[in-house]
Amino acid sequence: VPLVLTQFLDRAVALYGDKTGVICEERELTYLQLNERVNQLSHGLKALGVQKGDRVAYLAPNTLEMLEGFYGVFQLGAIMVPLNIRLKPDDYLFILNHSESKVLFVDQELYHLIVPIKDKLETVEKIIVHYKDSDTNEIAYDEWLAQFSNTPFERPEIDENDVCSLLYTSGTTGNPKGVMLTHRNNYLHALVTMHHLRVSDRDNYLHVLPMFHVNGWGSPFYYTANGATHICLRKAAPELIFDCIKKYRVNVMHMAPTVLNSLLQYYEQHVPAIDHPVRVVIAGSAPPPAFVTRVEKELGWEFIQVYGMTESSPLSTVSTIHSHLQHLPLHEQYRMKAKTGHAMIGCEVKVVNERGEEVPHDGQTIGEVVVRSNGVMKGYWKNPEATMETIRNGWLHTGDMATVDAYGNIDIVDRKKDIIISGGENISSIEVEGVLYDHPAVLEAAVIAAPHEKWGETPHAFVVVRPGHNVTEQELIAFSREKLAHFKAITGVTFVKELPKTASGKIQKVHLRNEYWQTHG
Ligand code: ATP
Ligand code: MG
Repeated sequence: VPLVLTQFLDRAVALYGDKTGVICEERELTYLQLNERVNQLSHGLKALGVQKGDRVAYLAPNTLEMLEGFYGVFQLGAIMVPLNIRLKPDDYLFILNHSESKVLFVDQELYHLIVPIKDKLETVEKIIVHYKDSDTNEIAYDEWLAQFSNTPFERPEIDENDVCSLLYTSGTTGNPKGVMLTHRNNYLHALVTMHHLRVSDRDNYLHVLPMFHVNGWGSPFYYTANGATHICLRKAAPELIFDCIKKYRVNVMHMAPTVLNSLLQYYEQHVPAIDHPVRVVIAGSAPPPAFVTRVEKELGWEFIQVYGMTESSPLSTVSTIHSHLQHLPLHEQYRMKAKTGHAMIGCEVKVVNERGEEVPHDGQTIGEVVVRSNGVMKGYWKNPEATMETIRNGWLHTGDMATVDAYGNIDIVDRKKDIIISGGENISSIEVEGVLYDHPAVLEAAVIAAPHEKWGETPHAFVVVRPGHNVTEQELIAFSREKLAHFKAITGVTFVKELPKTASGKIQKVHLRNEYWQTHG
């Protein structure tokens, strides 16, 4: 049987047809009803002339329309191009033209971002606006969808190695690149992930991470295949998240550390009552150790750290405490969960030196993470050079630096580009940030390399102070010297109101670095 993603919704319909499949802004649909809308969408796309292999772009937050888009597009063998909702009109112009998208679905609230570039779109033939809107002169989704039959759609033959998505990377370090993932990539990634996260039909999954970003992208697959209930959330604000948890008995969420931070802060101030267990919260993108401890201790929720990147569908490692380690004291377990973890089933993960040899498993020697798995992309869209540079001899070169300990636990030290080199020593910006997050006055911190006459570079921190707290530069420097080897301690602090972030909530250190070097370099 070819591993094609449409099977996941088929399974939910066959096994859980009458069960609530989606809840979105007061609308509740069973899996059968969701499937009918998916069929209408596929018929509609066909009527627009969309064929197998064509690109269909989506610009939407987490909505029902976005979720049904996945399966509506896949039934045609077409390729979904989800757009990050926090980009600028010119970025959309670049991606829509670069991906040669034929149809664009856009959420009404985001339509204004498309208006300035409409005349410059080279391949988009139709723009369809989610929700009714008489002002846009575009097709309104609900009316359009209603014209089409909800009967089963006759699918073309789809090969498991056919591309199903073009996901543009976060652009944390530069221009986003179009990552081609196949049905097989996503299918096998979903099977492995649902095992490690213990996904089941008892799950009420809250979409906190955006579906357009690779971290949220996989959830329509593994939660659907197991008949879980999807709860869509437009905006990842802490009060809305706690409301949803209570109202819909949410028990599982994935989120970026920055959102987790806002959740912890909200909890501290309001202590909202939750009358049922949230079984687990999952985060990647380098969560500081202090967050891991607080989630487990204060909220009483299990924390699982994952590591991955768009180019590998995304996940490659997971940190869970296996039963033979459960006798360890809690603080020791928290410390282990603050690491990136072990290779997931079916993933080979190695940490190698410049000659491609594995580094010793001593928890100290740093090398680059390389990955070989069924999740590794087919390549970058229209960029064979970048593909050849990134995938060498079948191994994906991640650009992330890590150590491995005697248990085989991988710990991401930093991105190659973010490492601070001071007097010939490598300093992990993530480690220094982790220490700053232990300070009660620090709400957010980002550490970059600052130019230094004697040492070449030294760590410099950008800090957002927690409301109601006060702290000076000297105090934070002293605090970091107390907790870290002196060469790793920060040598300066810039206090800011907020830090630049990507739509998935990642802090864009590249912007901070550029700005700092322009004024101090
Ligand atoms: P771009 O490639 O466009 O610069 P990006 O690398 O941020 O953007 P993503 O694919 O969304 O785009 O993110 C993957 C990266 O996120 C990884 O390469 C790694 O640097 C970081 N990351 C993910 N999970 C973790 C983790 N658990 N610990 C540390 N870093 C992580
Ligand atoms: Mg990247």
